[in-house]
Amino acid sequence: MTKRCIHFKVLGGGGEIGANCYEISYAQEHLLLDCGIHPKKEGFDSLPSFDLMESFPDAVLVTHGHVDHCGALPYLTQLFPHFKVHATLPTLRVMERMLHNSVVVMNTLRKERNIFDYPLYQHEDVENLMDITRAHLYNNYFDISNKSMFRALFNPAGHVLGSGSILLELDDYKILYTGDISASNQELLGPYQPFNWLDEVDTMIIESTQGAMDENKVNSYEDESLRLAESINYVLEQEGVVLIPTFALGRTQEIANVLARLQEEGILLKVPIYISGLGRAIYDIYEQFREYLDEKSQLRPLNRFRKLGNIWQPEIMKQLLSVPGIIIATSGMMIENTPSALIAQEMVQTKHHGIFFVGYVDPDTLGYKLLTSKTGDELQFQLDAQPVKIKHKNIGRFHFSGHAYRTALLKLIKELNPKNVILVHGDPPALDWMRENVNSRANCFIPPNGEKLTFEI
Ligand SMILES: [Zn+2]
Ligand SMILES: [Zn+2]
Repeated sequence: MTKRCIHFKVLGGGGEIGANCYEISYAQEHLLLDCGIHPKKEGFDSLPSFDLMESFPDAVLVTHGHVDHCGALPYLTQLFPHFKVHATLPTLRVMERMLHNSVVVMNTLRKERNIFDYPLYQHEDVENLMDITRAHLYNNYFDISNKSMFRALFNPAGHVLGSGSILLELDDYKILYTGDISASNQELLGPYQPFNWLDEVDTMIIESTQGAMDENKVNSYEDESLRLAESINYVLEQEGVVLIPTFALGRTQEIANVLARLQEEGILLKVPIYISGLGRAIYDIYEQFREYLDEKSQLRPLNRFRKLGNIWQPEIMKQLLSVPGIIIATSGMMIENTPSALIAQEMVQTKHHGIFFVGYVDPDTLGYKLLTSKTGDELQFQLDAQPVKIKHKNIGRFHFSGHAYRTALLKLIKELNPKNVILVHGDPPALDWMRENVNSRANCFIPPNGEKLTFEI
């Protein structure tokens, strides 16, 4: 009897949090799991290595709407028009909004920074992509296509609205790709749905974002909320304004509802809370799909929060910073020329204000430079403007994570007892800690981009 083999190839997201994209091949069939863009690279370099694909894709399965998981899909439609895209319905709605926003951002980068690779795709490509999508409910097996040997299922991942881990089955052989996964309660989303309905899997592809983070050393979500409230109150009492830079998908909706609840409980001073453009657009999708949120959670209506207005107009900015308030604005890592960067540029030059980061801040970003700056340093917040001197500094960092910490990741591996564990989506210290601590029967891999693994089935 001939051996049957399944092949796994990393096109992006190997050994790093990058352009997450993994190819699964069996016989003549080729599937992609996620198809993202690299958050720290630019132009064509930010794409997965599509040139290394074994063959054209039959289908792409998408775990959630963060662009490091779906941002390259419209580009893929230019290369190969005939494939299907599978995701949950809220993920498809979020993805559509995020990708149209990416077109706008890429056009701006082309103009302002002369990156002539941009835009990698147009609004029309996003529309073409939406035409080949298929929406699925959670916990529902579906056939990937009429001819496919695989069937698949999305299991709630707890990370953001609509996020799902992917279970792929080929006869009795089971592959689980976690995607980004959360194991604890956030304000709006519960933890991932336990896999106790599933005995074991053969191969597990697992994210490792928080693989270096010992949960015993971080505050709980609730304790961190209270610490944030205390810092915000201090600024508001000095008649200042608080800026919270956030990612548009997930953290914006979470933090807005944390703050609203703390105001209702009388813990946080009652001042207006503002949300910027893309965060509002995604909030609107959270409202449409509120049945996908934790049933115990309370999503406030979007009109509970004020619109930010056109802060590029000096009078509007001046007005905004003259009355105590809280501003939730993109981008989370304060990329130059975004609303959070523009507001911070004003804030560091005037008294009383506070800037509080609530998510991951990459060391290569303006946000990180600001966090580590000293009074008197100069920083550039807008690419076409002069650097600005930091005169006043009240900048803090708070830890709210939508990713499972390391012991929760290990627990999940132990429960599903896979033969093969493939660690992806993490920085090297996180990946290494995970590999050293996976103590099961598993073969453990940290494949770099481009590497192909073959498993007999
Ligand atoms: Zn994510
Ligand atoms: Zn991710």
